[in-house]
Amino acid sequence: MNDNVRALIEKLASEHHLSCAEYIELLSSREAEAAELLAEKARAVAGAVYGREVFLRGLIEFSNYCKNDCYYCGIRRSNRLAARYRLSPEEIFSCCDEGYRLGYRTFVLQSGEDPFFSDKVLVPLIAAIKESYPEVAVTLSLGERSYESYKALRTAGADRYLLRHETATPAHYAKLHPAEMSLKTRLNCLNYLRELGYAVGVGFMVGSPFQTVENIVADLQFIEEFQPDMCGIGPFIPHAATPFAGERAGSVELTCYLLSIIRLIIPDILLPATTALGTLAEDGREKGILSGANVLMPNLSPVSVRKKYELYDGKICTGEESAQCRLCLSGRIKSIGYKVVCSRGDRRKIESLIPPDEQKFLNCDKKQAASRLGEERP
Ligand code: SF4
Repeated sequence: MNDNVRALIEKLASEHHLSCAEYIELLSSREAEAAELLAEKARAVAGAVYGREVFLRGLIEFSNYCKNDCYYCGIRRSNRLAARYRLSPEEIFSCCDEGYRLGYRTFVLQSGEDPFFSDKVLVPLIAAIKESYPEVAVTLSLGERSYESYKALRTAGADRYLLRHETATPAHYAKLHPAEMSLKTRLNCLNYLRELGYAVGVGFMVGSPFQTVENIVADLQFIEEFQPDMCGIGPFIPHAATPFAGERAGSVELTCYLLSIIRLIIPDILLPATTALGTLAEDGREKGILSGANVLMPNLSPVSVRKKYELYDGKICTGEESAQCRLCLSGRIKSIGYKVVCSRGDRRKIESLIPPDEQKFLNCDKKQAASRLGEERP
């Protein structure tokens, strides 16, 4: 590793920020020694904030109907081969019930953009979950909705929202999505969610078609600026029934390199080691944790529908019962010296752990900082 790259890693770890040219150099000079130094720094930072705990979230993929047609996605509306399913609110509730018995204290309700799940259907469901399990955090991942809808769901009790921005470069966004979708709309949605007091998650695919180093740098700069509470990144994996069927998959190594960088940009961020990482490499999720990730999202959906939520080919963990998934992940994480925990796993406040002069977020306005720390709730 050359001295320049070492200096850039030191700078990122202490200042949580690099210039565009510096990010380009860091990404272009990626090699094993630099990756290990970055991962070492990322583990140290994650350890200072979260110790050796990895938060488990129970994921319920409740509908694979989607009105959108993203070119990379296996459940896009044009995929006539997809076997569609939709869980009823009662079935979703019973997944939560099972999750609660297994110890989960965060449920992630995820679906395609399915018009069936209007606010009329979701509001009573979220309210019932929160009423039955008040100590549980409800995370939603339902795509783009109106401000009013996000507000209704938040008022019903939803705590967090995951909405990947996919790419922070408009021209790249246009190559991954049909014309009726835009980055502008996506960013508006993220701003609404922030304004409504959700803990907000963004994210992007690593190695998606047409992605350049400059695109990735734009994603990192967006993360610096938006200061999300969570960030989900995983390698792009093609799906046979999409326009990107013949494209190459992204890499585990670059994904892990970026996980470390993101951990250093926002030391207290909640960072999942995604299922896509585990799909590309047997030990992909363990590598993700060792690169600075601290969240895993095992599946709580009924086994009968798991295979049908196939965003990309070869998705793992589609055959095991929820209890088995939990056991398997606990063992994997223990084997690398970490421990899974099922608590709510909120973002922890960092100011008591990191010296104030290193807290970049204190430079932004107070309202932004408070909302980022989860202090501001309507
Ligand atoms: S990525 Fe999401 S919004 Fe796009 S087609 Fe797939 S499920 Fe629908």
